[in-house]
Amino acid sequence: MATHVEDEVFTKAKVSPFVQDFMADLKAKNPAEPEFHQAVFEVADSVGVVLDRHPEYRAARILERMVEPERLIMFRVAWLDDRGEIRVNRGFRIEMNSAIGPYKGGLRFHPSVNLGILKFLAFEQVFKNSLTSLPMGGGKGGSDFDPKGKSNNEIMRFCQAFMSELFRHIGADTDVPAGDIGVGGREIGYLFGMYKKLRNEFTGVLTGKGLNWGGSLIRPEATGYGSVYFAAEMLSTRGRTLEGKTCLVSGTGNVAQYTVEKILQLGGKVVTMSDSDGYIYDEAGIDRHKLAFVMDLKNVHRGRIAEYADKFKSAVFTPTKPGADCNPLWDHKADCAFPSATQNEINSMDAANLLKNGVYVVAEGANMPTTIGGVNQFLDAGILYGPGKAANAGGVATSGLEMSQNSMRLSWTREEVDQRLHGIMKRIHATCVDMGERFGTPGNYVNGANIGGFLKVADAMMDQGVV
Ligand code: NDP
Repeated sequence: MATHVEDEVFTKAKVSPFVQDFMADLKAKNPAEPEFHQAVFEVADSVGVVLDRHPEYRAARILERMVEPERLIMFRVAWLDDRGEIRVNRGFRIEMNSAIGPYKGGLRFHPSVNLGILKFLAFEQVFKNSLTSLPMGGGKGGSDFDPKGKSNNEIMRFCQAFMSELFRHIGADTDVPAGDIGVGGREIGYLFGMYKKLRNEFTGVLTGKGLNWGGSLIRPEATGYGSVYFAAEMLSTRGRTLEGKTCLVSGTGNVAQYTVEKILQLGGKVVTMSDSDGYIYDEAGIDRHKLAFVMDLKNVHRGRIAEYADKFKSAVFTPTKPGADCNPLWDHKADCAFPSATQNEINSMDAANLLKNGVYVVAEGANMPTTIGGVNQFLDAGILYGPGKAANAGGVATSGLEMSQNSMRLSWTREEVDQRLHGIMKRIHATCVDMGERFGTPGNYVNGANIGGFLKVADAMMDQGVV
């Protein structure tokens, strides 16, 4: 799947002079980080109106402080592969903002990982965590390590080498990492084991832990379930439900799998899933039985989605075309789209295809999966568009619930955690609606999420002085 950054839209005529100047400075200071520029642009564009109404934030240079990470950690990760050869990767942790709580955000292991990508993710995380209403600051980390094709032992040795540096910088009250692309339950286990050995303490320093050693029920499901709850809330504003709706889902990882599961529970039909090699279109629908096949394929056998089309004859597999202008996954008749793979997987052309095909609900399970050109099209068309920092906040919210359970040394039931997750997603939705209206753009969830997330962090920064 090609990913796109459409830089030219940052300089569109309707952008205010303040945002243009702010972005010019940011780009000069942070060159070659297009995803970070994109994430900041989106927030700066939304909160301009807040800064106009509240000059005290501008005087305190709140936005300028928010785009500067509180701390950046980069380190060498050297490890031995199964042949005894030395491999060298780069490790990162971005401690972006701790105004409302300890840094919190996932670790990503993927060959595309670099400083700019992690800064965009850490920046988004600050606003997302604020929206959950839980006391969590924002951070993100990871490595350019590629888990694909590695043995279990290689994964373990890499995780141990990575943690042998990271452990100095994290802690239950300082910085609490979790999973993201390439980091699931297996990796969290190896990372936690090494942390515990080095520190000689058993604390809730990571979330996404196994159930019998401090994990929370529903944490694996939370991001996907939450994004579908968010879509259901958006639909309810138009008196509709997911029942009978045709849905396009991208990805086959953690978020995509549980997105499909919840859509099926709420009566929707899912016709696509993908991985980096291509996507399957199953006109008959991916039912529970077929989803179980996908989960086994991806979580146990670590296979490729192309195998789905070998198994189920109602499906067609289309391989990824590197360098293609658009992704054919987004060019099917449907009502809803749930991008759940990676950043910038929907570009302007894909957004146009979605709208042409009748899609009127987009709930982003992935972080920043839509380019700014695509976002503008969704907003102009007035569809129900839930940006990632609101729609996928269920994952980190449930990580917050895992932290609470760890602190209290007790475990809530599945129903209790799911109910809390559902309640949090409803409140995030309500905040987006309320903030969109209050600041003059009703129905605009992008502005609603950015402003809602911004205000809480900005007020905390004002209270805490110039630090
Ligand atoms: P996983 O590693 O479990 O799955 C990622 C999926 O996306 C895989 O199907 C993978 O295919 C595909 N993918 C990843 N990178 C690319 C790429 N460059 N091009 C094409 N396909 C790609 O990750 P998650 O499901 O956890 O994360 C998916 C998205 O959701 C990410 O944007 C993440 O930041 C976001 N997110 C995750 C949360 C969580 O709790 N896990 C919380 C909030 C957001 P392949 O296997 O072929 O690489």
